[in-house]
Amino acid sequence: MRQVPWRYVESWNCIACGACCKGYEVVLSFPEWMNIIYSYGVGVTRPSISKFHLKRRSDGSCIFLCKNFNQWLCGLQYMKPTACKLWPFKILSRPKFGRANEALYNYNDRRLYVYVDPLCMGIRWGNPARRFVHQTITEIVEIALGLREKQYYSTSKIPYRPAYFRARGRKII
Ligand code: SF4
Ligand code: SF4
Repeated sequence: MRQVPWRYVESWNCIACGACCKGYEVVLSFPEWMNIIYSYGVGVTRPSISKFHLKRRSDGSCIFLCKNFNQWLCGLQYMKPTACKLWPFKILSRPKFGRANEALYNYNDRRLYVYVDPLCMGIRWGNPARRFVHQTITEIVEIALGLREKQYYSTSKIPYRPAYFRARGRKII
């Protein structure tokens, strides 16, 4: 799927549709893999020739995806892999997907190229709103550059409460 430069996006809010957690295999860095197996055991991951992945259920969904009525939440909130934090954005040092002028994003005099995956249902197309430019994208860029870990603007605002799932006998993983 062709990636779209950020200048075509008015705003982005995750609506917890779960599509990204059902259609993609998550690649883990080595430290992420170590943290996850320390807490959940090696069985929630899957090795391949040179990488580690999160395991998927038989329907293709991530093993940590939880249903909350008609929404889908991540059960790995406090250890969420960087690949998941960045979705649906791609932060690149070159305009790999074209339309360089529209993808260019200056972060502290650093020239970066920001694209979004149009498959995400949380994208609203239009002229970029200030909040999207200065809060959402800035936060995503800082996560991509390893300058921050916590997400506020770039994640779903639906609260994740593990106790809620446990009380109703719903599987967290
Ligand atoms: S990031 Fe996009 S595709 Fe993934 S759950 Fe949120 S709205 Fe859906
Ligand atoms: S770790 Fe969380 S955000 Fe990432 S694919 Fe699994 S459920 Fe989705």
